[in-house]
Amino acid sequence: MDTNVLDIRGLHVTVGDKEIIKGVDLIIKKGEVHVLFGPNGSGKSTLLCAIMQLPGYTLRSGSVWVRGTDTAGLTTDAIANLGVGMSFQYPPRIKGVTLNRFLETISHDKNLSLPIASLHMEPFLERELNVGFSGGELKRAEILKLYAQNPDLLLIDEPESGVDIENIAVISQAINGMLQKESPVASRERSALIITHTGNILNTIHADVGHVFMDGKIVCSGNPLDLMDDIKKYGFAGCVACLENKKDNQ
Ligand code: ADP
Ligand code: MG
Repeated sequence: MDTNVLDIRGLHVTVGDKEIIKGVDLIIKKGEVHVLFGPNGSGKSTLLCAIMQLPGYTLRSGSVWVRGTDTAGLTTDAIANLGVGMSFQYPPRIKGVTLNRFLETISHDKNLSLPIASLHMEPFLERELNVGFSGGELKRAEILKLYAQNPDLLLIDEPESGVDIENIAVISQAINGMLQKESPVASRERSALIITHTGNILNTIHADVGHVFMDGKIVCSGNPLDLMDDIKKYGFAGCVACLENKKDNQ
């Protein structure tokens, strides 16, 4: 059985006439949680948007397979229906649609009372979607959206950016709940690719693999906590050099 939930080979993506993704290979297996570190503007969000084939992102070459299906030419809707859900770094505000109405539509009336309570979203259900939401409220609403969609592969873009410490804890615990991180990898149903700029979520979310992403490419991969330590000490570029040295000395 094909256990690659996501299988990306040689991916190049342009936005307008600018190449942003410059050759990405990435395999995520069932139950695995991968994190992507990288400086601003390196193309992390573009990679997630390209996986979802959102309008404006052109796949020039390479392939993206989701659970054994080649997504070439599929609509965003069809990719979501393969079991992929994305939480945005900058979620859109949608006037005239309440959060409740939106959740009912995408969840097919699934009972969301538990995640609504744990994400403290009761007071927002009758508000217009994301309109006037604070940083923490926006990100909590995004995670609630993932609960409603119930995807097998979660693409989560900077769940902690613009969010205070209390909200980071609430959001990280909710993500952990979805990822069944307390279970062994083999028995977990869901996988994830999580972009983190600060790495703060790694206090709660125990990722299996980390990648450093720079200038449109994955430049090194390894244990997420070791990578985070090296990034804090040496910066992104220094971290890559440091890993190369460690490899040479082994
Ligand atoms: P990151 O998420 O790593 O901070 P992004 O993927 O958001 O980086 O952006 C990578 C680069 O792509 C940036 O230089 C950004 O300005 C450019 N970019 C992203 N979206 C667009 C767009 N719609 N039009 C033009 N350039 C874009
Ligand atoms: Mg981004």
